[in-house]
Formats: sequence, C-alpha cells, structure tokens
Amino acid sequence: MQAPAIGGVQAPRGNGKVIRLPQGATLTDFAEKIGANPASLVQIMLHLGKMVTATQSVEEDDLQALGLELDFDVQVVSPEDEDRELLESFDIEYGEDDGDESHLRPRPPVVTVMGHVDHGKTKLLDAIRHANVQAGEAGGITQHIGAYQVHTEVDGEDRRITFIDTPGHEAFTAMRARGADTTDLVVLVVAADDGVKPQTTEAIDHATAAGVPIVVAVNKIDVPGADPQRVRAQLTEYGLVAEEFGGQTLFVDVSARQGTNIDGLLEAIILTADAELDLKANPDMPAQGSAIEGRLDRGRGTVATVLVQRGTLRVGDSIVCGVAHGRVRAMLDENGNNVDEAPPSRPVEVLGLTAVPDAGDSFLVVEDDRVARQIADRRSTRKRNAELIRSRPSVTLEDFMKRGERQELLLILKGDVSGSVEALEDSLSKIDVGEDVSLRVIRRGVGAITQDDVNLSLASNGAVIIGFNVRPERNAQELADREGVDIRFYSVIYQAIEEVEAALKGMLKPEFEEVQLGTAEIREIFKVPRIGNVAGSMVTSGVIQRNAKARLVRDGTVVADNLTVTSLRRFKDDATEVREGFECGIGIGYNDIKLGDVIECFEMREKPRD
Ligand code: GDP
Ligand code: MG
Repeated sequence: MQAPAIGGVQAPRGNGKVIRLPQGATLTDFAEKIGANPASLVQIMLHLGKMVTATQSVEEDDLQALGLELDFDVQVVSPEDEDRELLESFDIEYGEDDGDESHLRPRPPVVTVMGHVDHGKTKLLDAIRHANVQAGEAGGITQHIGAYQVHTEVDGEDRRITFIDTPGHEAFTAMRARGADTTDLVVLVVAADDGVKPQTTEAIDHATAAGVPIVVAVNKIDVPGADPQRVRAQLTEYGLVAEEFGGQTLFVDVSARQGTNIDGLLEAIILTADAELDLKANPDMPAQGSAIEGRLDRGRGTVATVLVQRGTLRVGDSIVCGVAHGRVRAMLDENGNNVDEAPPSRPVEVLGLTAVPDAGDSFLVVEDDRVARQIADRRSTRKRNAELIRSRPSVTLEDFMKRGERQELLLILKGDVSGSVEALEDSLSKIDVGEDVSLRVIRRGVGAITQDDVNLSLASNGAVIIGFNVRPERNAQELADREGVDIRFYSVIYQAIEEVEAALKGMLKPEFEEVQLGTAEIREIFKVPRIGNVAGSMVTSGVIQRNAKARLVRDGTVVADNLTVTSLRRFKDDATEVREGFECGIGIGYNDIKLGDVIECFEMREKPRD
C-alpha cells in the first residue's frame, strides 16, 4: 500500500510492524530497516519539528515519534539487551548460575568500604590486609591489585571475605552504572572524632539503592575525645540502629591506625552476611564475573584484576572481558603468587588479554579462542559506533537556532590504570563554567595513546586527547603531528583539570555589558538634507561619542533602541566626542525626535571572566 504523503514526503507505512533499533540509531539506520530513503526521513523529522541529519544519532523519544508517524512499532534496544542477544547468538547466558539449587555452594561475601573523606577507608583496607598476611606468605609483601581476600575464624570455622580495594563512592557507582553488582555488603567507615558527614549519608544512600546491608566501622577510637556512642546515636536517624539500641545493624569500634579490633570487624561482616544474605554460586561452570581494575604493565603486558562471581576460572581458559579477549596465561593473587584456579568471590590478576578492560566490564569464559575473538570483535565494533555517535554534535532544531552560542569540548581520556582514568573523568565532569560551554568524554581507556584514538579525534572534529601517565605509540604521535591533533600529557590530576578548565573558559564567547557613557537633552531640531533630522543638544552628563551606541528616551520611556551616533558636530566641525556642559549636533539615524527627548549614549564592553 502506498503511503499518504507526510509533509509532502512519501515513505513506507509500517501497519504496526515492530522494528528494533539500537540506542543512538540514526535515520539512516531507521531507513535501512524499513527500506526507505534516509533523506525522506530527514524531511519527515523536520515536519515533526526536529532538525537531524541522516547520520546523526536520534534520541529515543524522537525515534518513537517517527515510528508513530509511519505506523511502525519502534523498540529501542539498550546496549545491555544488545549484548545479551549477542551472547545468546553464541548460546551463552551471562549472569545466571547454571543448574539448580543443588549446584550452588556457599561463597565469601564481597565487601566495599565507603565513608566520608579522611575517615580512614584507605587506612582500614590496609590494616585489614596487614592483619591478615600470613607468616611466610611472600615475605608479607603485598601489592595493590584492586581487590583482596582475607581469612578469619568465626565459630571455629575458617571463613573468607573479599574486599574491593578501591574505596570510594565513584568506583562503587561506576561499577553499578555498568551493571556490575559486585558488592554484597558495605562497610561504612565513620570517624569517631568527626561523626556523620555528608559523604557518610551519601554512602548510606548508595548502599540502600543497591539493596546492600551495611556494617558500621566506627574508626579512630584511639583519638582523644573520640565518641563512638555519638556515632551510633547519629546514625539511628538514617535507619542504622545499633543492636544495643534495639536495632539490627552491627557497629564495630576500631582503630585502623593501631590495628585495633580488626577481627571484630571481620566477624561482624560474616555474621551480617550469614544473617541477611544467602551467598551462593555454582563453582562448576565456565567462570563469569566482573573486571575490577586494569592496567598496562611494561613487563607483563595487559593486567586485569577480575572478580569471579560464578564458576571457576582456570589458567588456559579462553575469556572475553568487555572488548578484550585472550587466553588466561597466568593468574596471580594479591600476594603475587601464581594460582591455577579462582573459585567464586576470588579476585585475581589475569595476564594474557589483548586489551585492558574497564572497571565494571563483564568477563566470561567461552569454549575457545575463536568464540572469544568473535564476541570481542562484535563488541568493539559496537563500542566504536557508539563513540562515533557520541562524537557527533547532536542538533535539534532548537539547538540549531542557538548554534554558535553553544560549544562543546570533546575529550578522549587515556591513563595507566582504570582507577585514575575514572577519577580524572569524574573530576572533569564537575568543572562548570556555565551553560554555554560543556565537556563530553567520548572515549576513556587504559593504555598508550593509539592511532585509533587519534583517528577518533579526527572523526569527531578535533577531540582533545589527554594522556594521564601514558605516552602515545609512535605511529599515533606521527599521525597526530601530521593532522594537528591536540594531545596533552599529565601526571597530576589537578593540572589536567586546571588546563581543561582554562580551555573551556577560552571557548566561552566574550560576555559584554553595557557601560553608560553620557546623556544629552534635545533642545533644537535641524532638518539636514539627505541626512534627516539632527538633534541640537546639550550634553547633560558624561560624554557623547561618535560611533557609540545610543537610544532615545522620551518621558522616561525608550522610544528607539539600537541606534548609533552616526554624526557628531560642535558648531561646524566634526567631533569625536563632546563632554558634559557643551552643546552639539547629534545624528542618530532616527527622524522622529522631539524637543526634550534624551539621547543616552553607551558602549558594550567585554566583561572579564572570573
Ligand atoms: P580516607 O580518605 O577515608 O581513605 O582516609 P585515610 O585512610 O586516607 O585516612 C585519613 C587520615 O586519617 C590519615 O591521616 C590516616 O592516617 C588517619 N587515620 C585513619 N585511621 C585512623 C585511626 O584509626 N586513628 C587515627 N588516629 N588516625 C587514623
Ligand atoms: Mg583514601
């Protein structure tokens, strides 16, 4: 059936047919699905009040509106759904334990430490690790791998707890934002000498939103004047009621500095996990889990810390982790010891991946290298498309009309470890120099700056590449030099922030403010052939300047604005300016002037930025 023309444009009708489009799809994608000409869809969008080009990413609402107009049932597929479908096409289910209840075995809790800055998160994580280093274990030398596991004895039983060793809310929320619910339990650190602070309550909100139980570590009890009871009293307001106040939450008084009562804290974690959680996983399936951290090691290549969430990871397994893949060449624990197997809740460093994954990327073991590569390749293509889409300016009709007023700085962030890239992105996103200029990170990643990064910058019309503790590969540097791509290197976060902020301010259009120059009262009107009426005036304040801006005021009301002092004369002579108390003839290119009118003269001056 031929469609009725929409806004004069012919397009096929869907009769309710379902079409599936990825988030960020373009009109070209849409056109392809329905066998239409992209240009016709551009016109229909215009008819719907949206200005989009055929290759621009279109917002979900607009895709739906277009579908409605053409009678298609548009289903926008999220990246997560797309990924699920990709894995399904390989007969893989991610995120579920194979088998039934009988296959599940208890697994250790995975704990994230949160709390207000300086309340002792880092110190506490160190204290827990050191209290647990067993004699003779690699000489007690521990290294930071982003997560570690400790032992503790509870009721005569040896129990394990896994700690995510990147404290802070960003890591927690960033992982959750990517769908990686790795944390089972939150330890909320509150300093006994400082009490509940804004980030304390923020942490409670995060944990509550994630539906994760909290154990409170009341820290710094060694400090004179510390008041652990006050912390308990304060937290009742936030629904964390200590057992001694009749509640359910375990509070443990500790000193991270002196290593006091770390065992008590570990016990409280186990007790809470046992009481509130039923932590089980199937250890007998191909391993799945999440990447916690990644970095590039000069000697060992890519190093990824992953947390096994179900199944058992073994050396030799073929794995996919985000867009990286490879075979597990070696696995190391937090003490730098080689391990052959990693069961559920075990964090390990994995060597052998082709690229450094992002924190929060899922990993899974697949049957062979070929499948691993195919999945990784499909994901890379999709990621790359998404980056390209993000790097295009998004223009609605409204934006389009305002174009020129608004600017965006595009950034590509590369760093040595995923944690620092995230910290940098987070800090950059907090820069605010006003509405007219904004900042958008179109790619972030770990590792050297590659030719592909430079190409993405070129594709996006000049995204600035920021290297944090990393250098460009040689061919990348050459390409950047040749094409004039801006690469900046930093090793200190605040320097990067300062420079980016300065760049953003530099992009701001100068702001002008009106500065009053002077006023003149019209006393006489001369008719001048070819020029029109000229105002014989007395300058009553300040100064009147030729070529300055002017407006005409009558009885306190502006009768004409946007005028210019086109001519200025003292007697017969042209003048550039005439001061208060002198008479002059003023031409303002406006004929309807009356005796007693006031000419206000002003100029626009650039406002300094603060
Ligand atoms: P974070 O910002 O929460 O990671 O806090 P840090 O672990 O960096 O600790 C902040 C400061 O508090 C550091 O100077 C620590 O040495 C100190 N600190 C941490 N725990 C204790 C403690 O139990 N007692 C005392 N007296 N100081 C502590
Ligand atoms: Mg810290």
